[in-house]
Amino acid sequence: MCRSGIDRAAGWALLYDFTMTVETIPNFTEPAAKLWKAIPADIKELLLANVWCGQCRDATIITNFTGVVRKGDLLLVGKCAQCHGDVARLIESN
Ligand SMILES: [Zn+2]
Repeated sequence: MCRSGIDRAAGWALLYDFTMTVETIPNFTEPAAKLWKAIPADIKELLLANVWCGQCRDATIITNFTGVVRKGDLLLVGKCAQCHGDVARLIESN
């Protein structure tokens, strides 16, 4: 179980780290990388920092994620920053 009072500062530092990592997009398929690059940086941060974790039963930060395209939408699959359980985030491309 995760406590509700998570360390936000540490969370944002972590987010900053992997946002930088994401610029190199090593784990994205080519079409996924194309969609990801089209998303403004501030929106990306919101998306990455607001992923539902079923184990924590709370919004969490997704880490160590990969990106693929499913039916035209971008699907990020990674780990919860708090419990390291599997989490996923679907980003509808419209
Ligand atoms: Zn979790």
